[in-house]
Amino acid sequence: MKSNIRVCSAWNAEHDRPVYTLSATCPKCGAEAVNSAPAPFDPDDPYGEYRRALKRRAHE
Ligand SMILES: [Zn+2]
Repeated sequence: MKSNIRVCSAWNAEHDRPVYTLSATCPKCGAEAVNSAPAPFDPDDPYGEYRRALKRRAHE
């Protein structure tokens, strides 16, 4: 299924979690919205896997 969902390019700095939108700009902060990342986000915990990966890397 193809989707045109975009994500705020500045969400990491501006928001607690990715802000998804169908428009070209973030509805909350006005930053550019980009095609959602190729990383497979888990809708229940969109940030968890990334955070765990970072944590693992930090211990190496
Ligand atoms: Zn935003």
